Amino acid sequence: MTDPTTTTDRSAARHTPPPALTPAGASGEAWTRRYSGALMNTFGRPQRVLVRGEGAYVWDADGSRYLDLLAGIAVNALGHAHPLLTSAVTAQLATLGHVSNLFATAPQVALAERILDLLGAPEGSRVFFCNSGSEANEGAFKIARRTGRTGMVAARNAFHGRTMGALALTYKAAYREPFEPLPGDVTHVPYGDVEALEAAVGTGTAAVVLEAVQGEAGIRSAPEGYLAAARRLTHDAGALLVIDEVQTGVGRTGAWFAHQHAHLGGTPPIVPDVVTLAKGLGGGIPVGAVVALGERAATLLGPGQHGTTFGGNPVAAAAGLATLHVIERDGLLENTRVVGAHLRDGVRGLGHPLITEVRGEGLLIAVQFAEPVAAATAQALLDSGFIVNAVAPDALRLAPPLILTAGQADSFVEALPAALDHALIAFGEAHR
Ligand SMILES: *Cc1c(COP(=O)(O)O)cnc(C)c1O
Repeated sequence: MTDPTTTTDRSAARHTPPPALTPAGASGEAWTRRYSGALMNTFGRPQRVLVRGEGAYVWDADGSRYLDLLAGIAVNALGHAHPLLTSAVTAQLATLGHVSNLFATAPQVALAERILDLLGAPEGSRVFFCNSGSEANEGAFKIARRTGRTGMVAARNAFHGRTMGALALTYKAAYREPFEPLPGDVTHVPYGDVEALEAAVGTGTAAVVLEAVQGEAGIRSAPEGYLAAARRLTHDAGALLVIDEVQTGVGRTGAWFAHQHAHLGGTPPIVPDVVTLAKGLGGGIPVGAVVALGERAATLLGPGQHGTTFGGNPVAAAAGLATLHVIERDGLLENTRVVGAHLRDGVRGLGHPLITEVRGEGLLIAVQFAEPVAAATAQALLDSGFIVNAVAPDALRLAPPLILTAGQADSFVEALPAALDHALIAFGEAHR
């Protein structure tokens, strides 16, 4: 005989939302009102209330469908509700969900090995898992301190996160100034300028921290030779080179890691001392990593000098393994390069007078406008069923799932001119 209290309840639980989520049919407007009454006002008013996703599409509480060209800010590499990611996470949670780092689990070991393999990591390299990009950069900052030096060199317009150490490396005054003093002895140099870097790096430099493509700065790739120069200068000064691949890593640019592209990281690619990862790594499940390449960087943090409760938990690690597996199995690096180029060509091919440049790598793309119409364009696109992001007042960011098809890219290209028309009208009214 089956025991009704187990079988029935368990299958019912799978389909019944918790009481706090009812009534299920509440409108976006109702949820937005409750959001404002319960959530801290750090993000502004949410644009929509989303209720479900599948592949490259999401749906809002009022039933409208959107092509998601932002993927949770360069996170959902496999799109939404990917069957393999869903089953890997579900199976792991049903087997063993969390154990703390007083114990080891197979998924965390396998994920660390896989990451080292994809990075072509030299002997002695090691991984530390955390839960976000900021945390990964905090880890890198602590590794840098263990050189016995305090000087940190980062780039103007860099974004490395919002926790105190990561914020000290971030450039934007509006993010930093309310929280000063911040840790460190941080110098910001113009990105891409080898001479400025050379002037800033010396025997007091603990680390140089750079993005391979500056993401939040508006998708700005390192000029050819810049990362190689940074590698040479840090090596000669005895400083560490930290490459922040939080946004660019895990296939986003069409290589596993952006610094592996010949035009960004040279041939053979540079070997940084530390690579930080997060965003795309878990396919939407929070997981970050500090990867120390080579024995020196890997041993700077000793036993007890860093830690985390959740980092590397088996569910997050299973998500990472599933994400990397699907990217490889389904040829998503190739898809990212091909569909990314197709999307950039499509937008350029519009020949729209407002569009002055289309730049980026793989599926990390910026559309540059001659006027500050990005927010109004993003709004008009949202209203017509496309999620993008105004990465700057005059630039849109596209960071869609790596599963995006050429046909889906085309649908965006077709919708863009009308959205720009709307944006220009709104912009004109606002500036009259
Ligand atoms: C998003 C981002 C971060 C911060 O990651 P969080 O997960 O938001 O803490 C750090 N560096 C880069 C390059 C990023 O794009």
